[in-house]
Amino acid sequence: MRLAIYPGSFDPITNGHLDVIHRAARLFDELIVAVALNDQKHTSCLFSIDERIAILEEACEGKAKVRVAKLNGLLVNFARDCGANAIVRGLRAVSDFGFEFQMALMNRKMEPDIETIFLMPKEDYTYLSSRIVKEIARLGGDVSAFVAACVVPPLLGQFSDQAWTESS
Ligand code: ADP
Repeated sequence: MRLAIYPGSFDPITNGHLDVIHRAARLFDELIVAVALNDQKHTSCLFSIDERIAILEEACEGKAKVRVAKLNGLLVNFARDCGANAIVRGLRAVSDFGFEFQMALMNRKMEPDIETIFLMPKEDYTYLSSRIVKEIARLGGDVSAFVAACVVPPLLGQFSDQAWTESS
């Protein structure tokens, strides 16, 4: 069985992540979307790990090959324990490359049997990141074109207190 792990912070999941999940699910028998407690790029998240998992599970509902799990610790150890053949990462632009290249080679050094596979999203999603979606939501913009419908209420909920404070 071909099993892949798609790790990330998913704070929150965007349509870009969903596009990568969809593409990876076509290539593998099973895909585990692994939500990192902490990762190298993010020191703190807007959503707790349990909130990020709950939102992801709702966004991936109906995708039979996709499972969501918590990732705590070293990715290659998790991947090996799951019996994964591959790690999936998304590449949006050249700006992603340096970090991803270093991580992929380090992971290969630690676990030579697990390949890192890079998937490019649909062009429309190459400018999308969780960070930019959070910034738009924080400033009162419409994020419905960038995330699944189930992501909008929790995202707006995170900033509703702030909006109330600023307008009062
Ligand atoms: P972000 O980089 O947006 O904060 P994550 O750390 O959760 O998100 O990213 C997990 C993986 O998903 C990384 O490989 C990242 O490059 C990829 N990814 C994030 N957003 C997109 C997107 N819009 N299109 C394709 N891949 C993406």
